[in-house]
Amino acid sequence: MTSSDVQHVIGELQSTIEQLKASSNTDSLTGIINRKCMESKLRSLSSRLINDKTITIAMIDIDKFKEINDQHGHQVGDLCLQHFVKVINQNIRVEDSLSRWGGDEFLLMLNDPDVESAKKTYQRLIDSLYEAPIQLPNGAQLHLKASFGVTQFHENFHLQDSIKKADKMLYKAKSQGGQQVAFAM
Ligand code: GH3
Ligand code: MG
Repeated sequence: MTSSDVQHVIGELQSTIEQLKASSNTDSLTGIINRKCMESKLRSLSSRLINDKTITIAMIDIDKFKEINDQHGHQVGDLCLQHFVKVINQNIRVEDSLSRWGGDEFLLMLNDPDVESAKKTYQRLIDSLYEAPIQLPNGAQLHLKASFGVTQFHENFHLQDSIKKADKMLYKAKSQGGQQVAFAM
């Protein structure tokens, strides 16, 4: 083997390693980062939040998603999950981050230290989702609804506690009828 052959093999190996790394962090259906990747992102943020700077996280769950699967089939359900991601991603900034938590649940991190403006953004996302219906293969339109449980991350937050809080708020948003934001500091 010549040294240029060796260089070529090393290059191929490096590219394979990069591809494997990316796929282990990605949700294959929607193309966004998965839960494992979001958890490590949030852990590394914990040490970088200084003074009173905060960010917010939203645990999001699509409303009545089981009904969509039951009425239109699993394939349409998959299209809805992809549509949800597209709409949310079109309405957040590059410094924000959306991950698929599992099933029809997503965790969104908004890097906006102003809580009031973050709350407005979450409400805007709910509205945008409803106002951008998905076009079904049979020509019908489907308006997606989702509920958001939001909490703040403070300096040295405890990840699992914050996620529990967001989950609790999500439950509240659902129990109040869904398609709304529930917030706890
Ligand atoms: P709620 O309004 O309370 O959120 O009810 P829901 O029907 O949305 O919630 P539930 O948790 O009962 O149902 C979620 C469904 O999501 C059940 C599961 O079969 C479906 N699901 C999970 N992952 C996928 C997926 O990747 N694709 C599709 N099409 N469905 C999925
Ligand atoms: Mg749901």
